[in-house]
Amino acid sequence: MDKVKIQDLEIYARHGVYPEETALGQKFLVSLALEMDTRKAGLADDLSKAVDYGKVAHDTERFLTGHTFRLLEAAAEHLAEELLLSYPVANITVEIKKPWAPVLLPLDTVSVEITRAWHQVYLSIGSNMGDREGHLNRALEFLKQDQKIRMGKISDFIVTKPYGYEKQEDFLNGAVELFTLYPPGELLEILHKAEADGNRERIIPWGPRTIDLDILFYDDEIISEPDLTIPHVEISKREFVLRPLCQIAPWKMHPLLHKCVMEMLEELQR
Ligand code: ADP
Ligand code: MG
Repeated sequence: MDKVKIQDLEIYARHGVYPEETALGQKFLVSLALEMDTRKAGLADDLSKAVDYGKVAHDTERFLTGHTFRLLEAAAEHLAEELLLSYPVANITVEIKKPWAPVLLPLDTVSVEITRAWHQVYLSIGSNMGDREGHLNRALEFLKQDQKIRMGKISDFIVTKPYGYEKQEDFLNGAVELFTLYPPGELLEILHKAEADGNRERIIPWGPRTIDLDILFYDDEIISEPDLTIPHVEISKREFVLRPLCQIAPWKMHPLLHKCVMEMLEELQR
């Protein structure tokens, strides 16, 4: 992807672990690479279609002089987030150098460099207790309140038969695309909060629930941890997941099975 870059922007600020550093301040050199599609701005030769690097530089200066962080890691993390929230960029690399770092050894600079991005996620949402549509909408509203989450496409909500434990009400299921700054584990915590907000109680495994939010895909990442499996293990076996998902992402490829959502759905229905 195209990049807009700023190299070694010089900023005098007060980040550091030592009291002298926060009292006196020192020089920092900030480099930024903002990834975006510059095609439209390039063809039209129009600043309003571009990310204004002058404004980015001034926002960066204002942010780093307006806050005091102990660690370069923290300064970089919060600056990256601020810029990803303020500008239409897909991802950003932030490097902050500290040429006067009090290490008491001769060195050119010390620095921290991080890359942060908006990630594309597909969720499965379901409810089979009480006001099912109300529970689904309430969970979506909960997620929408979070500035680090932006909603994308939302499928219709479809009525499906229960799976696993069958002596319960029919489900209402949907699929949702969202874009988020949260890494997978943090996103799972947010989903648990949204479930708690919807008064979810875990009584019977696979049993009745007011609200269930599962991560189906997170970019094309493959994660296998005790409390988090991505892609969700059951995607290809569950029609109630694939049918709504196929409405919003028929060509999305499963990174392990190498089949798209529509293919998985067709195979399951056969
Ligand atoms: P289920 O969704 O299978 O009906 P729960 O909603 O009670 O059951 O989820 C149980 C646990 O599954 C969660 O606490 C979570 O740690 C784990 N889990 C593993 N992978 C995922 C995933 N991709 N999305 C959501 N939860 C997951
Ligand atoms: Mg779940």
